[in-house]
Amino acid sequence: MLSSLRKLVTVCALGALVCGCADTGGAGRPEERRTPQAGQEHRPQSAPKQRPPTLAPGPQGLTPVFKKGRPDGGKTVALTFDADMTADQGPRAAAGERFDNPELIATLRRLQVPSTVFMTGRWAEEYPKQARAIGADPLFEVANHSYSHHAYTDDCYGLPSVSADRMRADVERAFTAFRKAGVRSTVPYFRFPGGCYDRAALEAIAPAGVTAVQWDVVSGDAFAEDADAVADEVLRGVRPGSVVVMHCTRSAAPVTERAIRRIVPELRKQGYRFARVSELIGGSAGQPG
Ligand SMILES: [Zn+2]
Repeated sequence: MLSSLRKLVTVCALGALVCGCADTGGAGRPEERRTPQAGQEHRPQSAPKQRPPTLAPGPQGLTPVFKKGRPDGGKTVALTFDADMTADQGPRAAAGERFDNPELIATLRRLQVPSTVFMTGRWAEEYPKQARAIGADPLFEVANHSYSHHAYTDDCYGLPSVSADRMRADVERAFTAFRKAGVRSTVPYFRFPGGCYDRAALEAIAPAGVTAVQWDVVSGDAFAEDADAVADEVLRGVRPGSVVVMHCTRSAAPVTERAIRRIVPELRKQGYRFARVSELIGGSAGQPG
């Protein structure tokens, strides 16, 4: 119960950040994300990569949902970082609020932790250099966290919602924003803002061809002030195949980088290996849920 309560509080806290108008726009097909951008043709990592694994669509073609890897797949854990920025937070960023977290990315690099970053399209627009650098680093993969960071259900902790007829465009607009920012190595995975979805949402975004990715471990890093408490929560929750949700947004999750400095060596000491979500999905074919 305590952990459910904590989860609720965490999501509500994030929800408190979210407001403003829903934007829809250009429809970028996932395949188009592979189009080389000017100036990137000669990068050493531009060799064709294997298409990231996805889950097969669910019944009636619904978007498949991935929650965690197979428990018998060894001591593997995926740390995921939501790079949250909402469609209407531009003025706050202009006034100095930092929705990025370069120190966190630097620490993940220093500790060599393969990770998946769920980025909003608005974040990529605000921080194109960082978005590009994360996408160009083989340590990371960039996944989709919507363009607007508005909710995909009407009852997601009071968040403003995207109407069903604009959901697909909101997902595709994020891919378009990634492409415009020059982000490579995007993966066709989508995390619902607030983690809220229902059948209608799974149906609405099915044409976008993404696999929805949830999690089984809530770090509680949103608005946390105690890095040790966040680390404890993660260390308590991780099991083989776990997907941990954290944030790459300094203003809303200021102690995440410090928590990572404890979580990573401790989990390694326990025999865990870090993997990107694509690796867990690749090892879980036919195991949606
Ligand atoms: Zn988010």
